[in-house]
Amino acid sequence: MNTTHHPVTIVGAGLGGLVLARVLHVHGIGSAVFDLDADRQARTQGGMLDIHEETGQAALRAAGLYEEFRAKVHPGGEALRVLDKRAEVLLEQKDDGDGGRPEIDRGDLRDLLLDALPEGTVRWDSKVTDAVPLDGGRHRVTLADGTTFTTDLLVGGDGAWSRIRPLLSPARPAYTGISFVELDLFDADERHPASAELIGGGMFFALGDDKGFLAHRETDGSLHIYTALRAAEDWLSTIDFTDTEAAKAALLEHFTDWAPGLRALITEADGPLTPRLIHALPVGHRWQRVPGVTLLGDAAHLMSPFAGEGANLAMFDGAELGQALAAHPTDTESALSVYESALFPRSEQTAAESARSQEMLFDARAPQPLIDMFTSFEA
Ligand SMILES: Cc1cc2nc3c(=O)[nH]c(=O)nc-3n(C[C@H](O)[C@H](O)[C@H](O)COP(=O)(O)OP(=O)(O)OC[C@H]3O[C@@H](n4cnc5c(N)ncnc54)[C@H](O)[C@@H]3O)c2cc1C
Repeated sequence: MNTTHHPVTIVGAGLGGLVLARVLHVHGIGSAVFDLDADRQARTQGGMLDIHEETGQAALRAAGLYEEFRAKVHPGGEALRVLDKRAEVLLEQKDDGDGGRPEIDRGDLRDLLLDALPEGTVRWDSKVTDAVPLDGGRHRVTLADGTTFTTDLLVGGDGAWSRIRPLLSPARPAYTGISFVELDLFDADERHPASAELIGGGMFFALGDDKGFLAHRETDGSLHIYTALRAAEDWLSTIDFTDTEAAKAALLEHFTDWAPGLRALITEADGPLTPRLIHALPVGHRWQRVPGVTLLGDAAHLMSPFAGEGANLAMFDGAELGQALAAHPTDTESALSVYESALFPRSEQTAAESARSQEMLFDARAPQPLIDMFTSFEA
């Protein structure tokens, strides 16, 4: 029986996997991308991403998509407000329009990358359930429907709970001590004008007592809010999120002495509340070279979101790996060595920065350490 063979297999059509596929395509190298989502619309991608110059923007340049990206940037999205629990505004920055921290809707960015790949590159509804090493660096991959294929190069771009990571490393993500409850206020200018004014046009932090609200105005005019608390790992499981009013009441108990305008972000939330535990891999996670397989993005270096770098790094990893493979067309192992020798110190540095940012946000003196940091950037 003939087994299907893909020279390059990318597991995961996240931002990292898609940038890799696109950069390979730009260099004339084909790839097959497998994702468990039923199709490209299966999940709302949600959230604004701040695309950093040295990582995300560099990746988009390598992918030949920088100009298209600039056309989709959210104007005004670089504004910033930092408040304390009394809703006193302690720091306010307008979007000065210099475009140094361009913001884009995650869904728009993903669409940009998907549209830049040859038809059929991404195989949707294709959950990878197993991958085993064969001789000579090849792997055999199994999908949930029982299909198997072989590949010369297997790249795990499959996020936090990667199926590919165990081929390289026994590490597992651990709970960081921070729990989120995500909320949305739709059509904010019309339906929630006071909250819209409070949050402003871009990024918003209201912090104190080891907790707070991290929010963002989205391109569709909604407000997306992460209520964040330092909490035991099982705290979220004690709340019944199928009963939205009860979940709001449970959450409000943690904000009894917060300003009414901040509590209103919870009481006025539209739709269901979404719980989320924040996990991270150990800072400095790395592995020994294993022939024919590597990782990128969260699969390689899941970190807490507090440095705003995870998606940026995933894209940069994809671009770096694509360029290394293009530069070593007949020697995949050399390409992987070059890629990983830069990946490990880069991820370690940013993961450490993320862990420090977490401590800064959920600090007894918050939001002062955050204000000090933004003020030092300005200086
Ligand atoms: C609340 C929150 C806020 C964040 N904010 C920011 C921010 O502002 N800026 C920023 O840079 N980063 C941010 N991040 C981090 C960012 O979301 C991630 O780092 C980024 O999405 C990682 O991209 P990725 O391509 O590695 O993985 P993912 O985006 O997780 O993509 C993995 C893909 O693999 C697929 N997949 C998984 N398992 C399988 C399987 N077995 N078979 C087939 N397919 C599979 C999934 O369907 C998915 O499409 C945030 C994260 C969180 C949780």
